[in-house]
Amino acid sequence: MAAAFGRLIDWASLDDAGRRAALARPARRTERDVVDIVREVMDAVAAEGGAAVTRYAERFDGHAPRRIAITPDTVKAARDALAPADTRAIRIAAENVRLFHQATRPVDTDMVETTRGVRSQLVWRPIRAAGIYVPGGTAPLFSSLLMQAIPAEVAGVGTRVVVTPPAKDGSVHPAMIVAAAEAGLDAVWLLGGAHAIAALTYGVTLDDGEIPAVDKLFGPGNAFVAEAKKQATALPGGPAVDMPAGPSELMVVIDRDAAPEIAAADLLSQAEHDADAQVILVSTSRANLDYVLTEVERQVATLPREAVARASLNEARAVLVRDLPTACDVINLYGPEHLALQVEDPEAMLPAIRAAGAVFVGRFAAETLGDYAAGPSHVLPTDGGARTLGGITTASFMTTMSVQTVTEDGAGELGPVAARLARLEGLEAHARAADMRSGR
Ligand code: NAD
Repeated sequence: MAAAFGRLIDWASLDDAGRRAALARPARRTERDVVDIVREVMDAVAAEGGAAVTRYAERFDGHAPRRIAITPDTVKAARDALAPADTRAIRIAAENVRLFHQATRPVDTDMVETTRGVRSQLVWRPIRAAGIYVPGGTAPLFSSLLMQAIPAEVAGVGTRVVVTPPAKDGSVHPAMIVAAAEAGLDAVWLLGGAHAIAALTYGVTLDDGEIPAVDKLFGPGNAFVAEAKKQATALPGGPAVDMPAGPSELMVVIDRDAAPEIAAADLLSQAEHDADAQVILVSTSRANLDYVLTEVERQVATLPREAVARASLNEARAVLVRDLPTACDVINLYGPEHLALQVEDPEAMLPAIRAAGAVFVGRFAAETLGDYAAGPSHVLPTDGGARTLGGITTASFMTTMSVQTVTEDGAGELGPVAARLARLEGLEAHARAADMRSGR
């Protein structure tokens, strides 16, 4: 086993409990400190509003919240600060994200007639106001702005409030402004951490203007942001939240003939995120598994973020399986955020896979392309959330209503059935309301 990789798991040698344990995510402490600090921030913002938000922003980030208007002037200045190729790349990414989300926006169903004269349908409506968190403590993740604000725009959300922490000197990266312009936003708030989530939860007045209370909170973030979303949604009448988004994960599945240098490059692209990033290799071939691990060792030594990648690789796992159906069992048990299939016939595996946030099919489908520019959102569930939840789509920014219409004949036919069931449940008023429609 090459030195860089954490653990080798021989799937066939384990029982069910052993397999679950082998795939368990390392326990992360939600330190008491985090819970307590966030509780204090939420309570203070509830009581004092904008004054508390400003106080915490100055304490934790060194700068009062600032509203950056996205105007022709600010956008021109930001474009001038970037290389033309950078601006072009942001535009291409934005166009692809928009194209994909326009094509996949849910549509109202047809009317379904369940009984003659009783017709129903599901219609989709955008939510009123979305709060979008764009992480920025360690790097300005303007791609996360595109991946959330554009699906929200396509969904038809009227109020999109984007918050992101300021850089250390209080500034905003020009790429964030260009991305905001591409997403059709009129402003970005320089405000991060739990205090930003509190502001979106309660709605506050700040020196630069109002942050309205939103109906749903979106976006990844560090432990403070994640805890704030949890506390916000637990409030009576509090906002909904998108999904659990913890440290990023990639599972790469290879067979005997997969290219080791490509599998290794993908594993490292995940490992360089942060020390907690989860990296798992699943192989049907012991020989190729070893080649990939050797490649990982060779490539990691050449990376600018070698130390971060090595810290993540300490927890990495290489799983040896008998065949591809067994690999599908491993995938479905773990529910990876990202899944790369680097096997001879990757499409053939798809029908057996049911738990993954995003699947990258074949050797050319690098996760990096999906992270930035392919089209689907890169905001995806981690920690096994993929077993029941998808990533962000336009539907995440929408809700359904059922709409029912009934003719006189329909009421005549279904009314007695409903009245009967109502009386069976002991609900006489219900039964009479139905009787009145069916002429009884
Ligand atoms: P961040 O924006 O999430 O957090 C920065 C904010 O945290 C700052 O505003 C700061 O005030 C606050 N903060 C930091 N230390 C604090 C303290 N001691 N007390 C109170 N507040 C404090 O940016 P980040 O820290 O760079 O974290 C980004 C996270 O998002 C990473 O963990 C990354 O893995 C994750 N991420 C996940 C996805 C996904 O889709 N799952 C995508 C992108 C990023």
